[in-house]
Amino acid sequence: MRYAMAIDTLKCVGCSDCVVACQIENEVPIGFCRDWVTETVVGSYPDLEMEIRSERCNHCSNAPCVRCCPTGASHIVEGGIVLVQENKCIGCGACIESCPYDARYFHPKGYVDKCTFCIHRVEKGQDPACVSVCPTKCMYFGDLDDPSSAISKIMKKRNYKVLAPEAGTQPNIFYLI
Ligand code: SF4
Ligand code: SF4
Ligand code: SF4
Repeated sequence: MRYAMAIDTLKCVGCSDCVVACQIENEVPIGFCRDWVTETVVGSYPDLEMEIRSERCNHCSNAPCVRCCPTGASHIVEGGIVLVQENKCIGCGACIESCPYDARYFHPKGYVDKCTFCIHRVEKGQDPACVSVCPTKCMYFGDLDDPSSAISKIMKKRNYKVLAPEAGTQPNIFYLI
């Protein structure tokens, strides 16, 4: 099993419903976020376009945050989801420094926090909160090892990219382009 998310940059309107849903679902403290929306100009003049992306931890297959964690707090569970075990985290910040995507933050309670792929919902057969509220249905979450999953099917049909491939982290968030 390999959980992944595909996000359609042609359908995302940048409404930030995903950000609000995540903050409520995961009780993310005010002033912090597990996901965020970026706007980037892509193309070359005069064919320029604004690409809007909902971003979060990439649940990298080759995760530097897991490798550098001195206590094992940062770890990978079945399906490739990268998690932080709060009571093992000593707040050294090594994982924050190692992440090329700036996907982690210090939680005011003293540990490092980030996107969990909403594993508590996924274990119940539900989509992550951000996916479930998207008004344009531009996010697909599922098992890339299952050829019949919606995410496998959409990725067969569309071109896609990952962010910062040069970092060698093997991200599992794919942007449909
Ligand atoms: Fe770790 Fe950052 Fe990759 Fe998430 S995006 S798995 S925090 S390196
Ligand atoms: Fe591990 Fe916590 Fe240090 Fe991050 S801050 S490397 S999760 S102990
Ligand atoms: Fe937040 Fe869950 Fe979406 Fe991750 S998968 S950004 S934790 S709502």
